[in-house]
Amino acid sequence: MFTTAIGALRLDRIDELSGPAVSPRKLLPELPPDAEARHASWFAPTFYDPQKDALILSLHGWIVRTGKHTVLMEACGGNHKNRPEYPRVHQLDSPWLSRLRSAGVAPEEVDFVFCSHLHVDHIGWYTEMKNGRWVPTFPNAKYLMAQREFDNWNHATRTLPPLNLQGSCFEDSVRPVIESGQAVMVDDGHEIDDALKVEASYGHTLGHCSLRATSRGETGIFCGDIMHSPIEMTYPHVNTYACEDQDAARATRRRLLEEAAEYGHTLIPAHFPHPYSTVRVKLAGDGFAIVPNA
Ligand SMILES: [Zn+2]
Repeated sequence: MFTTAIGALRLDRIDELSGPAVSPRKLLPELPPDAEARHASWFAPTFYDPQKDALILSLHGWIVRTGKHTVLMEACGGNHKNRPEYPRVHQLDSPWLSRLRSAGVAPEEVDFVFCSHLHVDHIGWYTEMKNGRWVPTFPNAKYLMAQREFDNWNHATRTLPPLNLQGSCFEDSVRPVIESGQAVMVDDGHEIDDALKVEASYGHTLGHCSLRATSRGETGIFCGDIMHSPIEMTYPHVNTYACEDQDAARATRRRLLEEAAEYGHTLIPAHFPHPYSTVRVKLAGDGFAIVPNA
């Protein structure tokens, strides 16, 4: 288990899985052709498996304890979900809930759940299977959802074509939380408590939001999927094929990287593998690079 802190906030990473996931060229079609070779000295093997031609991506959530509240940020793929469209999390049976308990948190103790966006690999643990039904995993939690992101995936309000890899995740993971009355729609600027604030970081999805943690002069930004791998720091204009608003995705990535480099904020992207699940960043050429840990 990996534990860190932002000021007085304790952060425990709850791991689901990590490893080779997808070809860089499939996920990031705009990547320059020589990128893997050119950056091999740091890119492989930590972030890239050359044999499998695959980015090393992690799926994990974070428990943030503010002193007042226990918050889960990102809810991974979940267990026993039928995901033929997204094989990485298809019918998973991981000890994620025991890992949560090992961090000292029972599901009943989670006060808030927030996910940067409602993609299939972020909302799995919204629900679990009990007595043949999908029910909220966190019975006492409010599930905060950005209204704009909810509208983006709600069939009645979606403006873009359906995304095949989402499969049935809205029905088995989001719908039960709406029906239990635990979903709370929020907007850009919503504060969970003094330490945690929801912030628009639109682009990867139309309603993608980050969670800004501030304590004792330190700032950490749970920035979701504004980038998946540090190679997108080297080439910050490179989007994923799945980014829904390509211009906004580029602008958001650059804005957050610039801010973090200038002020020394910690960035906490959703899929960077250990030991880089939290990073500080610096300007490097036309892009950015990870500041090595002291
Ligand atoms: Zn993701």
